[in-house]
Amino acid sequence: MSTLEINGLRASVAGKEILRGIDLVLHSGEVHAVMGPNGAGKSTLSAVIMGKPGYEVLAGSVMLDGVDVLALPAWQRATIGLHLVMQYPTEVPGVMLDDVLSEALASRGRDTSALGQMLLDEADRIGFEERLLHRPLNVDLSGGEKKRNETLQLAVLRPRFAILDELDSGLDIDALRDCSRRVEDLSNDSSGGREPMGVLAITHYSRLLNELKPDHVHILVKGRIVTSGGPELADVLETDGYAAFVPADELIDEPSASAGGLDDLFAL
Ligand code: ADP
Ligand code: MG
Repeated sequence: MSTLEINGLRASVAGKEILRGIDLVLHSGEVHAVMGPNGAGKSTLSAVIMGKPGYEVLAGSVMLDGVDVLALPAWQRATIGLHLVMQYPTEVPGVMLDDVLSEALASRGRDTSALGQMLLDEADRIGFEERLLHRPLNVDLSGGEKKRNETLQLAVLRPRFAILDELDSGLDIDALRDCSRRVEDLSNDSSGGREPMGVLAITHYSRLLNELKPDHVHILVKGRIVTSGGPELADVLETDGYAAFVPADELIDEPSASAGGLDDLFAL
């Protein structure tokens, strides 16, 4: 059983404090949803856990099974078992998906001999076209194909903990169902003596949680978790919105914080 423990985490970006004391404890096989309005600090939380440059940690700690995550460069955070599915997956021209996964598995000391078949199986399972497996990473893919691709990478790498930053943004209903179902399966899969994957699912909308069943839901407003509860919290959000948890005039709604135009398609 692995544990990811976030304690009193405060962080700033561009000199502005965004995370103002986050406490979260995740165990293997648990799905935690962190939900919050635009600009609450959701992407900042994922970036700070994973080590994206430009974020300053002001206080607190992130520990993975006793290892001080914040002391490690991003690539080492990945090799010890953290994986971020980004809100807007990056296109990497000239770098092939199958090469990336081969190198990533090797750097984790894992066998790569079955990778070809694993890719075919996962592609089939997630509805990712086989012809896209041997192409530069995410280049020229649609929003839905990118997220299927990222989910496929997650399934091949099987990190101890997956952090999903708005997996649902830019996804149509079918892709959303396929991707969230795959992540849910990974959180239940202990076949071969492996630990089931723990999940930190960061999302604005509860539709992600139709297939990906959260054990715990946390509501993040202005860099703080204001409420935590069970899956029923997501239902309350669905009907009442974030206003039920914070005065409406305190809701931050900065369009720049959700830079992708696809988000707007789903604006309430
Ligand atoms: P969310 O993902 O919840 O919508 P973010 O974590 O992206 O929110 O952003 C939280 C706040 O931090 C916003 O006010 C945003 O404008 C600000 N912010 C995020 N990244 C940067 C940055 N690189 N430079 C300046 N401000 C930033
Ligand atoms: Mg965000």
